[in-house]
Amino acid sequence: KENSTRENNVAKIKVVVRKRPLNKKELTKKEDDVVTVSDTAYLTVHEPKLKVDLTAYVDKHEFCFDAVLDEHVTNDEVYRATVEPIIPTIFERTKATCFAYGQTGSGKTYTMQPLPLRAAEDLVRQLHQPVYRSQRYKLWLSYFEIYGGKLFDLLSDRRKLCMREDGRQQVCIVGLQEFEVLDVQVVKEFIEKGNASRSTGSTGANEESSRSHAILQLVVKKHNEVKEGKRNSNTDANDARSGKVVGKISFIDLAGSERGADTTDNDRQTRIEGAEINKSLLALKECIRALDNDQIHIPFRGSKLTEVLRDSFVGNSKTVMISCISPGAGSCEHTLNTLRYADRVK
Ligand code: ADP
Ligand code: MG
Repeated sequence: KENSTRENNVAKIKVVVRKRPLNKKELTKKEDDVVTVSDTAYLTVHEPKLKVDLTAYVDKHEFCFDAVLDEHVTNDEVYRATVEPIIPTIFERTKATCFAYGQTGSGKTYTMQPLPLRAAEDLVRQLHQPVYRSQRYKLWLSYFEIYGGKLFDLLSDRRKLCMREDGRQQVCIVGLQEFEVLDVQVVKEFIEKGNASRSTGSTGANEESSRSHAILQLVVKKHNEVKEGKRNSNTDANDARSGKVVGKISFIDLAGSERGADTTDNDRQTRIEGAEINKSLLALKECIRALDNDQIHIPFRGSKLTEVLRDSFVGNSKTVMISCISPGAGSCEHTLNTLRYADRVK
């Protein structure tokens, strides 16, 4: 009974928008801030436009979301508004996903990086409760990337991974390394190690990671009692495979949303990647909408991204979409696209 009450207190799908401050470059160019956050749930975009006779006017677009976070909101407040309420449900068999969506430079990575740290802190604290410790619950971390429709382990030298389904809606990523999280400091180290391993495109340092989805998972598992005498054998209880998944949370730093439009680029590789990104972002939207409508059939087969997250789209699932937007007039079109995407998800 208590479980269901708590379940109901946390929305199944939450769509949050985060506006970043104008950056140095935008300030130097004297770009206008075209995004006004009027309320904790409302925002307006003032789109500068020209009429046929070249007179300027402003087109206003209003949006409403579960929460709108302005440029003064700290990462800590973002955590409290998005992930924190979900944490207790992880121990009640919830599989949660937290996405950062938006154009390159809108603040996805800035927003996403601290979240797993805070989540691990809260999860580890919970694990230290006598009830979980005595039942041998453990926390595991993995970090991988989807690039051009392929999976790479960011914590083991970009080893190529493949996916297997076991017919019971469980996804298994063959060879993915999982590391036990005993304290929060190691999470920081894993994130740094993984980031250094992310794909680097040929087009320049700024866009390194904008064509890939990075997925960090924190998984709570329950492990069997270690039998006396078996303690030192290879089937050590510390082995992630020996545990049964209780719940998990995936943090996904999505590819830059503008990359999905790279389908007419002159470079063949860029075109292929653009098409893959476009496909995955569309599939993601469809899956979240299907979840929201309580559809039995979730179209997760639409892309590698949604296939990998398949088990998080069934049963007790929670989804948080954080849409990141740039406030500058020069980003207006991308900002509107991001907000329209978020609007359709909600
Ligand atoms: P993305 O991952 O979407 O490409 P980043 O997270 O790398 O974008 O952000 C681009 C730049 O803007 C970075 O230098 C980052 O530090 C800065 N930035 C993003 N969001 C904020 C924010 N809310 N407050 C201050 N600086 C931010
Ligand atoms: Mg980034």
